[in-house]
Amino acid sequence: MNRYAQLDHAHVWHPFTQMRDWLRTEPIVIQSGKGAVLRDTRGRRYLDANASIWTNLHGHSHPKINAAITRQLKKIAHSSALGLANQPAALLAARLVKSAEFEQASIAPEAPSAHAARKSYIVDRKSVPADKLTKVFFSDDGSTALEVALKLAHQYARRTRGPKSRPRFLSLAGAYHGDTIGAVSLGHIDLFHKAYGGMLFPTDHVMAPYCYRCPYNRAQPQRRDARKYRQCQWECLGQLERRLTSRKKQGEPYAAFVFEPLMQGAAGLIPQPSGWLRQATEMARAHGALLIADEVMTGFGRTGVTCHVTDDAIVQAARQPDDVKLYACARTGVIPDFLCLAKGLTGGYLPMAATLTNEKIFKAFLGEYEEFKTFFHGHSFTGNQLGAAAAVASLDLLQARASVRHRARLQQQLQTELATLWKLPHVGDIRQVGLVAGIELVKDWRTRQPFDLRVRAGIRVCEAMARRGVLTRPVGNVIVLMPPYCTTPDQLHQMVEALAQSVAELSNRQMSRPSKKV
Ligand code: PMP
Repeated sequence: MNRYAQLDHAHVWHPFTQMRDWLRTEPIVIQSGKGAVLRDTRGRRYLDANASIWTNLHGHSHPKINAAITRQLKKIAHSSALGLANQPAALLAARLVKSAEFEQASIAPEAPSAHAARKSYIVDRKSVPADKLTKVFFSDDGSTALEVALKLAHQYARRTRGPKSRPRFLSLAGAYHGDTIGAVSLGHIDLFHKAYGGMLFPTDHVMAPYCYRCPYNRAQPQRRDARKYRQCQWECLGQLERRLTSRKKQGEPYAAFVFEPLMQGAAGLIPQPSGWLRQATEMARAHGALLIADEVMTGFGRTGVTCHVTDDAIVQAARQPDDVKLYACARTGVIPDFLCLAKGLTGGYLPMAATLTNEKIFKAFLGEYEEFKTFFHGHSFTGNQLGAAAAVASLDLLQARASVRHRARLQQQLQTELATLWKLPHVGDIRQVGLVAGIELVKDWRTRQPFDLRVRAGIRVCEAMARRGVLTRPVGNVIVLMPPYCTTPDQLHQMVEALAQSVAELSNRQMSRPSKKV
């Protein structure tokens, strides 16, 4: 075994990993990366099909980001944000605020689809005006970005509702917002979160719009995205409204509604049907809750460029790089009170996060020193210069015409390539939002019967993909495809082809019993 593999086996404890399994085989030891390609110490080459756990945007070793970090390194790597400002962090904050400037959409009733039930929950209502995002609090990763939003929302509720207030939070079923205690408290994935029961504070959850597995969707399975042929009456929104109302009746509205906009990631790559996000957020706001948008996964263009992907629209989007909407919230005109960003913030190069908020929240923390209204929270590396320099370079790249045009084409190609997977009987649902896709594996698409998790269907398919030179990780039985934006058409084809072959291989095997590794 390679020396580094030996050292790893001897000393490194890996995240979200059953270490007994890990220690059974020699790990892939990554040595270098260029664009969408990772190379290991044995000289093998892999395509990075989940963008290094959803972080990488423009590819590895990008010359512009490398140059920005090197330039900054020659000046200084890090100085504290406690009591000091620094150039790249100030510049980045201004750029983030600018990138999050967008118009709030008013709610229009959704055009009824041919297959949707006649009665629609969606109603025309006036939007409650939202405040612009103007302030940026830096931290280290997705979990801390959420902790910051949680603490600010908690304090804001106490300060505006009075000291007796007991701020409570509402999030979506299946939610995952990180692994620190506050973030875990917001989470509702039993497999990850149940074990920490005694340590967490109580929060509530409400059903997520998981059309493929929705008990209210009366449509029979079809060979297309379940959002497109669902037959329901927006019962999910009805449940949300009841939750919000009953909480208010108990005396105090929710302090905040926490959600991933357009697509829930770790919940199983669950996309929201058109119209859900605006209605849900509008309802929450109308019931007195602040909005916390977790764009740790969806941010920085992941949910696609704002255009219908026809050739004309690609050209149009590329002509107006300043209008490129980088956030799922921006694409839907939902202005939250907190916008949590991490992963892709630095292009996936360095750990850094940001929580954007508005003047209303900011002002609640202003006062004379002795009033102790200060936000007592911060990390040693808050506002780190290297991370901020990488992030500014990444934003430049994201807004460049060539990048927008390439992303639009990649998004279109992904859609075409994914359509070829419907022929596989173990593919139950294919869910694409921009440049992220989840492919849900099932025993039989006609019944939607899931694989028992112990069968490790998702893991097996990803192992088979790795043998074909494509790396990704599953979320349960859902295979994630999240290519870096620099991925070439040929590389994208290889990613989907490896997935198709690996699922076909799975179909040929006996998959009803747990694998030996369990
Ligand atoms: N929110 C979402 C939506 C995420 O996907 C993740 C990580 N996968 C987090 C928060 C936590 O981010 P981190 O791992 O950087 O703490």
